[in-house]
Amino acid sequence: MKFTKKDKVLLISIKGPRHIVEVDRTFFTKEGELKLKSLIGKKYGSKIFSNKGVEYTALLPTFSDMMQKSAKGPQGVLPKDAAMIVAHTGIGKNSKVLDAGTGSGHLAAFLARVIDPTILTSYEVRKEFIKVAKKNLDFMNIKNVQIRNKDIYKKIDGRKYDLITLDLAEPWKVRDLKKALAAGGYVVAYLPQMTQVTQFVNFCEKQNILVERIMEVQERYWEVHGRIAKPRYLQQDHTAFLVFARKLN
Ligand code: SAH
Repeated sequence: MKFTKKDKVLLISIKGPRHIVEVDRTFFTKEGELKLKSLIGKKYGSKIFSNKGVEYTALLPTFSDMMQKSAKGPQGVLPKDAAMIVAHTGIGKNSKVLDAGTGSGHLAAFLARVIDPTILTSYEVRKEFIKVAKKNLDFMNIKNVQIRNKDIYKKIDGRKYDLITLDLAEPWKVRDLKKALAAGGYVVAYLPQMTQVTQFVNFCEKQNILVERIMEVQERYWEVHGRIAKPRYLQQDHTAFLVFARKLN
């Protein structure tokens, strides 16, 4: 496959950082200037040199490459947690999914890819974050997310969602939660504090929403080169607990 002028290019060099840029331009880095237009019509995996002689390999970025580079707003949900939500709720391309708050749009993007071309709805109260999320989703080339400037605590329009994800401080305030879920549908709350977990579990139990699993996903990276083979120091430790609960009827 070859680069066309509409593509973005992932530039990987052994020496320098990675970049993702439109192929249709000249790009300036600390390692010199790169005339990316010369890649148009060339195969993925072609080499390109900066004017300072640094070699880059040019690839087509994947969704994961773009996620890592997408401009950050509020702390986004990481792959380890997003993947677990997909794995344990069984959503697929026809699932109806509602997400709140949108924040940086990261969780929305992970889930939207799974249900594409079905539209994912995401609620966000703060206009400035809607702007950030839209920019991130555009960068990641995700087109099936509809962001609404709404307070999910007050009201959920529409109903019968197969999955509602709640990454906000007080998910027990979502008044229409039960009404908005399909029978068998999941709510997944992403909660940094165990005190929030207990409060949310109480809320679910009161309404007869079945708490199916509560978990923490731990991911541990290793460094392996030469005689070095050890866990990486200073890893991200805790992100949040995940509460999976299910509406029975
Ligand atoms: N899951 C997001 C990050 C969400 S951060 C991601 O992966 O990128 C939490 C967001 O919830 C913030 O942007 C905040 O403004 C929003 N929020 C807080 N309360 C809300 C409410 N009642 N309704 C809608 N959005 C809310």
